[in-house]
Amino acid sequence: MDHATDRPTDLTTDLLVIGGGMAGLTAAARAARDGQRVVVVEVGADVGGSGRFAGYIWTAPDHEVMDQQNPNGDAALKRRLVDDFAAAVEWIRSTGVEAKPAQRILSFGRGHEFDTNHYVDTCRRLVTEAGGSVLIDTVTEELLESDGAVVGARVRRSSGEELDITARHTVLATGGFQGSAELRETYLGSGAGEMPLRSNPHSQGDGLRLATAVGAAVGPEQAGFYGHLVPSGVPFKDSGDFVDLSLYYSEHALLFNLENRRFVDETLGDHLTTVALMEQPEARGLLIADGRVYRDWMVPAYVEGAVSVDKFALASRRGGRTGLAESLEELEYLPEDWGYDGPTIRAEIERYNEAAASGTLEPGRALDPAPLLEPPYYVIETIPAITFPFTGILIDDHARVLDSDGRPIPGLLAAGSDTGGLWNRAYAGGLAAAIVFGLAAAESAGAPSSGE
Ligand SMILES: Cc1cc2nc3c(=O)[nH]c(=O)nc-3n(C[C@H](O)[C@H](O)[C@H](O)COP(=O)(O)OP(=O)(O)OC[C@H]3O[C@@H](n4cnc5c(N)ncnc54)[C@H](O)[C@@H]3O)c2cc1C
Repeated sequence: MDHATDRPTDLTTDLLVIGGGMAGLTAAARAARDGQRVVVVEVGADVGGSGRFAGYIWTAPDHEVMDQQNPNGDAALKRRLVDDFAAAVEWIRSTGVEAKPAQRILSFGRGHEFDTNHYVDTCRRLVTEAGGSVLIDTVTEELLESDGAVVGARVRRSSGEELDITARHTVLATGGFQGSAELRETYLGSGAGEMPLRSNPHSQGDGLRLATAVGAAVGPEQAGFYGHLVPSGVPFKDSGDFVDLSLYYSEHALLFNLENRRFVDETLGDHLTTVALMEQPEARGLLIADGRVYRDWMVPAYVEGAVSVDKFALASRRGGRTGLAESLEELEYLPEDWGYDGPTIRAEIERYNEAAASGTLEPGRALDPAPLLEPPYYVIETIPAITFPFTGILIDDHARVLDSDGRPIPGLLAAGSDTGGLWNRAYAGGLAAAIVFGLAAAESAGAPSSGE
């Protein structure tokens, strides 16, 4: 490394990683520890990506639960994720970063809290201490090809200088395309371009563009995305808002669309309800909780160890469309300009309460079918916000990028939210996926036969 110019003097490396977030830094640190020469290229001014905002590595505890929760996910990718989860946690610990004891996550998952900032900074240090380079503020212009194989990339530094970095393997790990309204419209459906972005701002689909330019396949279609419900009309001020404004408690509340009806089993997960709301008229809805839900779910922390925030107070303070009704009758007086019909909403909740008592709910409520009987009623208008898409570059379970015939493209690997196939309208842990497949990419890069 030439410290005066912050630029590598040796532009031939074993592994080139494009994207210095969770998946990319994991691949890079692991490969560096295994003795490979590594260059990481990061478009932002710092590494870490969305990984810096996260806190729990978790997934389904076994194959059966994974298949129940994510039946349409790619079988080989699901298997590798579950099989390698424990090794991923051990890898984190092996870097000197503490992963706390296992705990329950959501209704079905298990995982470990860990300090993701400590982790990404440690990975970066492992790379540079092993003689590798981390180039920030660097744009990747194109992948380099030779004899049908990817052999590196042409990058441009913030100074304008272009570099060709030649590598035996290249890992795409730019974190998805959620930052591109255009790609959201293309792959996630009409209206998806409007969603607020609940992630790092740099993941704008560069991995996808670079991969498709060399023949990579993209999929699956209609797979949805990971995100959460947030109050409408309340822009994110900073990354702290990504968690504070997420209405995780929706799993215990009722959600009505602009046609004043429920349309989804809200209890299956706020992230799934978020995808369903994207497909409703104007992609907005009224989320209604009662006193029980407020006390038990709206104010307490969503996951043990996380901060607790009064979501209703925060949304109200920040100018969201919120209302507190002392009784069901008061719900009739919703502001007209919101576009919902108060008397119908009231009648729908009464009907819901009767159906809950007789066990005839439609849509059903698998996990919390209790009626909303305890005033006051807390109303927040909500919209979906996106963290990353489930459609992406197709890979096999060795993190090798596949072409449209399902064959690995020699020299090209991908991991993390750039990839598709693992999740299909279902989700059980973005960090686990990033780290497991980041490690798989490092392993493939070290194996002489990988993709070649
Ligand atoms: C608020 C929040 C909380 C979360 N909490 C959890 C949690 O507790 N548990 C969990 O499992 N998941 C959580 N997630 C999801 C998790 O953060 C992601 O799944 C994970 O970070 C994905 O890793 P990645 O490497 O694919 O993307 P990222 O970590 O986002 O990294 C992508 C990197 O690529 C860089 N990049 C983009 N374009 C380029 C380019 N052209 N060239 C070079 N670099 C580029 C970006 O700047 C970024 O550094 C959370 C996400 C958010 C936003």
